[in-house]
Amino acid sequence: MITKTIKDIKDKLPEGVKLIAVSKFHPAEAVKEAYNAGQRLFGENKVQEMTAKHEVLPKDIEWHFIGHLQTNKVKYIAPFVAMIHSIDSLHLLTEVNRQAEKANRVIDVLLQIHIAHEESKFGMTFGECRELLNEGSWKTLTHVRICGLMGMATFTDDMEQVEREFISLQAFLEELKNSWFAGDAAFKELSMGMTDDYPIAVRHGSTFVRIGTLIFGERNYNK
Ligand SMILES: *Cc1c(COP(=O)(O)O)cnc(C)c1O
Repeated sequence: MITKTIKDIKDKLPEGVKLIAVSKFHPAEAVKEAYNAGQRLFGENKVQEMTAKHEVLPKDIEWHFIGHLQTNKVKYIAPFVAMIHSIDSLHLLTEVNRQAEKANRVIDVLLQIHIAHEESKFGMTFGECRELLNEGSWKTLTHVRICGLMGMATFTDDMEQVEREFISLQAFLEELKNSWFAGDAAFKELSMGMTDDYPIAVRHGSTFVRIGTLIFGERNYNK
């Protein structure tokens, strides 16, 4: 099942859109099955779970951190993480830079924007993100590379609302491309779209879709 689903999704994704298989709450064996199907990008939202899987699984896996990240835990993933999608403050960005320098790396990151009409989701508002960029000190952080934006739409059946939220994030990416990041070829990624809404996200410029349930089945949160 995992193998076939991954193939079906990849066949449908336009060129340039990368699939992140979100393996949180699923065991390493499930990741291995997806790996054997050719999948290399995996997403996790807990530091401990990601480091545990990283230890036992093949080293050519690209681990994408997609959850809320506490500054005191950055050090555990800095040596190996491929991309952190959830930068939501200058404080966190600065700590990622510090730990990346210690690990002798440059870490790719995305700025997480709150686009949902929900309280519970993390991320900066457009205004908070502009403030962070205006403040300017991010430019001195030589061990992080800001590659674009990440967002999660509202959890709702109203697909028109979801679409409006994705459109707003795409427009914000364009705004930043044409201002702070003008001439920066690395700033181009848009991480948006999950199991229920990824086709909509793809229509509006997503370059990373983060898909869990469709690939691995329902998560069991009681384990
Ligand atoms: C869990 C999670 C996903 C995957 O969600 P599914 O609906 O299972 O595809 C995507 N992005 C983030 C940030 C997540 O936490």
